[in-house]
Amino acid sequence: MKPTHIEHIGIAVKSLDEAIPFYEKVLGLTCYAIEEVKDQKVKTAFFMVGQTKIELLESTDPEGPIGKFIEKKGQGIHHIAFAQEDVGEALNQAEENGVQLIDKSPRKGAEGLDIGFLHPKSTFGVLMEFCGDPSANS
Ligand code: ZN
Repeated sequence: MKPTHIEHIGIAVKSLDEAIPFYEKVLGLTCYAIEEVKDQKVKTAFFMVGQTKIELLESTDPEGPIGKFIEKKGQGIHHIAFAQEDVGEALNQAEENGVQLIDKSPRKGAEGLDIGFLHPKSTFGVLMEFCGDPSANS
């Protein structure tokens, strides 16, 4: 199986309030949702660009994954998410190919999607996410 498209690009920002006006005024996009994902300690803001979303990530806790990322690397691209029809199967297939996984099986991300992360050690330095709508298969 292969990804159908880039589902979203995750971008770490210090402040959604500061970053959203850039995407709206300069790029002319519309923020259509803001959502807090408590177990990831982030607040997310979404924009649609064609079939692909931009997901801005603001940390709600300096000890959370985005807080630590910004501390180490500063603001910028955090991860790329590939749309997969079956996230669990895609993760299994990656593991069979020797890829180190962060998530051995899918968990729930923003917008109720199934998500799973591949470790950047195995992906040439890019944090990769597989992402899919479980209700699309049923
Ligand atoms: Zn993501």
